[in-house]
Amino acid sequence: MKPTTAVSKVTLRKGRDTRVKAGHPWVFSGEVYGVLPPEMDGQIIAVEDATGRFLGQGLVNTKSNILVRLLTRQRETIDREFFKSRLADAIAYRERFANLPQGPGAAYRLIHAEADGLPAMVVDKYGDFLSCQILSLGMAQRLPMFVELLAELVQPKGIYERSDVLVRSLEGLPQATGVLYGEEPPEDLEIVEHGARFRVDLKTGQKTGFFLDQRLNRLRVRELAQGRVLNTFCYTGGFSIAAALGNATEVVSVDISPEAIALAEDNAKLNGVEDKSTFIAANAFDYLREAEKAGEKFDVVILDPPAFTKNKESIPGAMRGYKEINLRAMRLLNPGGLLVSSSCSHHISPQMFVEVIADAAADTRKRLRQIELRGPSPDHPVLPAAPETDYLKCFLAEVR
Ligand code: SAH
Repeated sequence: MKPTTAVSKVTLRKGRDTRVKAGHPWVFSGEVYGVLPPEMDGQIIAVEDATGRFLGQGLVNTKSNILVRLLTRQRETIDREFFKSRLADAIAYRERFANLPQGPGAAYRLIHAEADGLPAMVVDKYGDFLSCQILSLGMAQRLPMFVELLAELVQPKGIYERSDVLVRSLEGLPQATGVLYGEEPPEDLEIVEHGARFRVDLKTGQKTGFFLDQRLNRLRVRELAQGRVLNTFCYTGGFSIAAALGNATEVVSVDISPEAIALAEDNAKLNGVEDKSTFIAANAFDYLREAEKAGEKFDVVILDPPAFTKNKESIPGAMRGYKEINLRAMRLLNPGGLLVSSSCSHHISPQMFVEVIADAAADTRKRLRQIELRGPSPDHPVLPAAPETDYLKCFLAEVR
């Protein structure tokens, strides 16, 4: 491995250091004086302000718009021990604060990137297997070390890489998938969430296989579900199974992906709720429109779409999308029904999200009583100095 302490430094331009000083972990390329040589990519670099005050150390990548990803605000040595203690700390944090599932098949996020002081690195635990995703060059160069450390600390049966995401190209990295350690995850890998069983496709499923961030929100839906439930953007049936194992009498689920629907059907059978479950492979926008036309009514409607916007420019379009689905969901609800509406786009703040739902209610002359505005499960901690890490909103309201 390359030198482990900062041997060189970069200076933030005058007036461009506010965000970093306030605790944000990224330095953008336009914020510094001078140009760094590409030979430094992946190395540790010190960051200082225009007066020469030391601000921290991080991993540099001249190919990326995010020039430095800060690892520490201290003058400490960044070596194997440093990273080992960061990993151990992330594990200890979860044991203390994250209300973790226990026992065989327990699934949760072990490492949540910047929020755990391990930039651009996600590690999810699916029973005996780990799935990992690395989105920055400096961390990717150290992957063999991370694999050794994870094997030592967690003792999984296998570690699988799911770095098959387009944003890797922004770091000059190719996509990468495959076994990093131990056994290949089996086709029929199962996890258990609050007693519910789910088959998870670690190798080709969306994200790293399952949307672990909604774990406690699915539990909440299980507690509150009753009557006829509609779950749109259902993926492999997380909220559907939760509702069916609660007091739902019938659950209709819609997703555009036939692969997700096939797995959702298997999951319903695994949990013995296939008799009250219907799964439809369709565009949820079309389904919502047609269900309304057909006069369908539900007691609970769940919306959990993918991020409608990945950049600032498309925020207005995303807001229109959220408004449309929320408005249609409200019209499908019986009086006193429950709306469970999520957004996972970090460009839409919790406040913006609540506003767009209120706007949809006003347009369709519905009255809302907000029950809760929830976030992700605590194994997906938020870094308060980086608002973009506060991405998941789950809004629950009674609709009349
Ligand atoms: N609630 C799920 C996760 C949902 S992820 C869980 O708890 O596991 C978002 C899902 O929306 C994905 O499965 C994706 O296939 C689906 N999707 C994307 N666009 C869609 C559309 N237009 N109509 C229906 N589903 C869509």
